[in-house]
Amino acid sequence: HAKSQGANRYLFFNDSMNKLAVKRLQLENLIRHGLKEDYFAVYYQPKMDIVSGQLVGMEALVRFITPKGGIVSPASFIPVAEETGQIIEIGEVVLRKACLAVKGWIDQGLFQGRVAVNLSSRQFSLPYLCELIDDTLQQAELPSYHLELEITEGTVMQSPPQAIETMKKLRARGIHLAMDDFGTGYSSLAYLKQFPLNTLKIDKAFIDDMNTARGRNMVDTIMTIAHNLSLSVVAEGVEQEEQLAMLRKLRCDVIQGYYYSKPLSDSEFTQFLQEQKARRIKLSAVPV
Ligand code: C2E
Ligand code: MG
Ligand code: MG
Ligand code: MG
Repeated sequence: HAKSQGANRYLFFNDSMNKLAVKRLQLENLIRHGLKEDYFAVYYQPKMDIVSGQLVGMEALVRFITPKGGIVSPASFIPVAEETGQIIEIGEVVLRKACLAVKGWIDQGLFQGRVAVNLSSRQFSLPYLCELIDDTLQQAELPSYHLELEITEGTVMQSPPQAIETMKKLRARGIHLAMDDFGTGYSSLAYLKQFPLNTLKIDKAFIDDMNTARGRNMVDTIMTIAHNLSLSVVAEGVEQEEQLAMLRKLRCDVIQGYYYSKPLSDSEFTQFLQEQKARRIKLSAVPV
């Protein structure tokens, strides 16, 4: 046993393991510092109706803004935050900021839809999750039907009966539920129909594969399953016109991706909403 060998215990850690552990510790400290100093910001990516081309909602995506103004993507810190449990506090910050931002856009007459917030497994299984959400919505004075939560297959499959119960409580509040990254985890079809979901989000990996017949068939199949379960379908990571055209043919409902817009900062998103509004006014002013 490593401990019983005293000073020799370090033999068990080779160089690369050490570096990894140090990096993780540094990240953990950085996250703690960031939470204290309010370095976590929320970016927003538009979700567009595939038929009308109109904005239907947006996804809130966390960013770490360094003191020098650099932007750190969640891919690098979320895995560590999940392990340390810091994701719970980060998630609370994102939820609060997203609700406040959307409340502002609604009050300015710029928006009427839903904001989607990602929930980690750890957040989803918090016994006080519903209370936390109720309190946050109340403090932001945001009606619950403006909120959507994105959860992954891994989250709901940890304990399906419990997940169904939590999901029902959220749905009873008028909150919409989306299954994120669909197709990348393992979820059984038997359960899929029991989960009280509103939306399926097809992972970008499947959209990327649409340049092959096999890939297109796959997306077609997912789309059929979703629609048979009365779920709306969001395609994630749409970048090209051709993908959009194929998804339209397959009767996808909503698209999200760089084709329309990258995730935008609070002020950039306000501008995006203002442009959308100007376009709507222009369209409705066309004489008939
Ligand atoms: P996700 O929830 O599946 O979010 C979609 C990701 O795809 C985002 O990456 C978004 O920027 C990216 N994306 C969207 N359209 C395109 C596209 O056309 N091309 C490409 N290449 N990428 C596109 P992001 O913001 O880096 O987030 C990565 C993941 O981190 C998210 O995946 C989600 O799982 C997690 N995450 C982000 N914010 C939060 C949060 O507040 N809480 C939790 N628990 N997880 C979060
Ligand atoms: Mg998501
Ligand atoms: Mg996703
Ligand atoms: Mg994803």
